[in-house]
Amino acid sequence: MRVWQFKGIYLKQGWLSPAYVTTDESGKITNISDQHSAVVNEEINGFAIPPVTNAHSHAFQYGMAGLTENIPQGQGHDNFWSWRDRMYRLADQITPDQMESIAKMLYAEMLRVGYNHVVEFHYLRNDEKGNNYSNPNEMADRLISAALKVGIKITLVPVYYRCSNFGRGPSEAQRRFQFSSIDSYFKHIESLSSTYASNSEVTIGYGLHSMRAATAKEIKEIISYNIHLPCHLHISEQMREVDACVKYLGARPVEWLTTETEVGSNCHLVHSTHITNDEMNAIIRANANVVICPSTEGNLGDGFFPISEYIKAGGRWCIGSDSHITLNPFEEVRLLDYGQRLIKQERNVLLNGQPGDSAELAFQTIIDNGRQATGKDACNFFEVGDDFDALIVDGRSPLMNRVSDEGRLATIIYALDSRSINGHIKRGEWLVKSGIHINYDELLEEFSNISLFHN
Ligand SMILES: [Zn+2]
Repeated sequence: MRVWQFKGIYLKQGWLSPAYVTTDESGKITNISDQHSAVVNEEINGFAIPPVTNAHSHAFQYGMAGLTENIPQGQGHDNFWSWRDRMYRLADQITPDQMESIAKMLYAEMLRVGYNHVVEFHYLRNDEKGNNYSNPNEMADRLISAALKVGIKITLVPVYYRCSNFGRGPSEAQRRFQFSSIDSYFKHIESLSSTYASNSEVTIGYGLHSMRAATAKEIKEIISYNIHLPCHLHISEQMREVDACVKYLGARPVEWLTTETEVGSNCHLVHSTHITNDEMNAIIRANANVVICPSTEGNLGDGFFPISEYIKAGGRWCIGSDSHITLNPFEEVRLLDYGQRLIKQERNVLLNGQPGDSAELAFQTIIDNGRQATGKDACNFFEVGDDFDALIVDGRSPLMNRVSDEGRLATIIYALDSRSINGHIKRGEWLVKSGIHINYDELLEEFSNISLFHN
């Protein structure tokens, strides 16, 4: 038994301050109270809040974060598609060892900034020539291994990729992503599902890279593959893709998906940036979730997701760090919120004029829908019987010493820098302490020595 003391803990019903959490030998919560009867084992000058899900990640892209903020000689304007060419050049070279090293460093950093579960949207799966590795699950195994080694929970979503664009066949540039048939894709999902069935830290999802990556028939088959597993796909991120979809399928991507397939509550539509009001309402009617990645969408010049209108209409949403140009869940929320404030020239636009607190609304939403994007239903914050998983907000932060219970969560979400999240406890054990992952030095050395970065 262990008794933890905090300045406060954020429960579903609000702050409990001070807070004493008792855990058993397996790290499960046995009691939460503002008083304690037993001796305190860990006195923490900080506040405990629940960790957040990162609902969209491409681990290998962490290797290029910050390296494309320039226009090469002779390229002209830079946009999503020219960024994609540079991303493909990186994807062309990565080995399984390098994939695992990059993912370990990234996932350890995710734990540090506040994520405890990553949804890895996985398509870099073939060898350099475009063939299966001798173990067809090689890259998937490496990503899962990286997550297990550093302590983050993972939902791996291997996605179907076959066409290079609407109505086109496979292309050389995407040879490392492609499946030879939809049957080989479903076999891949089944093989991974059975391999990891008994591991509670791992969930296998499924999906398709995008509407342009499959034929109409294949999209329908994939969407209705298994309603009990999370299904993810990129959609309507760029107008060029929307226009091509209209030309080829005769409807906009979300319009087509919501009328032609059985899209439902297990479906997680990544981006959905360019949607009409009718498409927005169709997503909500289907009870699908939207995964918004504001820092990547901003970095790639995608556009603004209409978050105020979507919340007002009752839509589900959560966040992801996608290309990892930013690794901070609260900065994702700020960027999403501020984009709309700048457009509307108003404040607290997530609330649509209703009384309330923007931080409470956003935090609750990204946790609830984020967990569903991983394939889990439990949306508790801290409850007796649950594993004790918590982020620690530094109690020495000036702004945290200024506020009472009211305004504390909004201070964390809107006003603190990522250094203020300085601890991460998983199942009653420290994974990140004093702002550093327990294996940080080792991970950093391995990451810094990746030969890919030194060619
Ligand atoms: Zn993505």
